[in-house]
Amino acid sequence: MLPRIAIVIPCYNEQEALPVTTAQLLRLLDEMADKQLVAADSFILCSDDGSKDATWQVICQLHKADPRVKGVALTQNRGHQYALLAGLMTAEPLCDAAISIDADLQDDPQAIVEMVKKFREGAEIVFGVRASRKTDTWFKRTTARGFYRFQRSMGLNTVYDHADYRLMSRRALQLLSEYGESNLFLRGIIPQLGLTTAIVTYDRHERVAGESKYPLGKMLSFSIDGITSFSARPIRLIFIVGLILLLLDVAMALYVFTSYLTHHVVEGWTSLMLSVWFLGSLILMGLGIVGEYIGKIFVEVKQRPRYAIRETLLDPTPTSD
Ligand code: UDP
Ligand code: MG
Repeated sequence: MLPRIAIVIPCYNEQEALPVTTAQLLRLLDEMADKQLVAADSFILCSDDGSKDATWQVICQLHKADPRVKGVALTQNRGHQYALLAGLMTAEPLCDAAISIDADLQDDPQAIVEMVKKFREGAEIVFGVRASRKTDTWFKRTTARGFYRFQRSMGLNTVYDHADYRLMSRRALQLLSEYGESNLFLRGIIPQLGLTTAIVTYDRHERVAGESKYPLGKMLSFSIDGITSFSARPIRLIFIVGLILLLLDVAMALYVFTSYLTHHVVEGWTSLMLSVWFLGSLILMGLGIVGEYIGKIFVEVKQRPRYAIRETLLDPTPTSD
């Protein structure tokens, strides 16, 4: 049986890009079906993220012309991650694997062929990873690299140079559906699912039409969201800074005392200096300790699944009476 593939596209104000994008992807699906790689009823699912332009009307027209273009619309703009999740969850019961790709086709659609091949070889998740960032501006390139480094140092593990271009098997989608958190950061969750993964590299192109919906500000807040919804390391940093200050405090105390003994100092300076440093470090450490508890609460309230079962061996099937 050939796998039925869904290509899921989050769309926000993409009326110019969508006709070009879907035409190209339909051609790709035809080619793959001809080569016996995917089932002929594989489809495209556009997830309209509360667009202000005619995106939904465009999706409806495309659906009329070719019912393999399907759509789902959110009631309002919720952001790329949520639009993508809505698309993936809508596609889950209808497909064997879903591939997410941006509407602007900056990520080379040819990589889909490789992804499907890896999927058929047994990978449940295939990450699309950029081979180079030649077409990005110097600024976008440097800031993006900086964000990856910063995220890693803050305890958030993501696949380097992988955005949201990936294939997920139906099982991966089902596991993903159990993550009930509101602060959604797919790039962090998906490597955590623990399934067999593979990587496909590709070159990134210019946008086909329209302009980027991810300026620096949005990228920054996305990165901070990612870190704060995955890791309590920033909290631990407070404690560590407090501890370092306490150590410095010892050196400071030595200096303050020798000054007190060796030359004249203003009255009160010694005791003030000692208490400022000592109290400062105590306060920071105290904040850090409180933070550790908040960190625990933060993990608990997410109510993430605690485990995911790979397979079971329970034969003969127990009968329930
Ligand atoms: N997008 C979305 N909701 C938003 C912003 C963007 O669904 O609020 C979609 C957008 O239509 C595109 C994808 O997310 O398909 C990536 O956006 P974009 O290409 O503008 O980001 P960039 O490639 O510049 O980082
Ligand atoms: Mg883009």
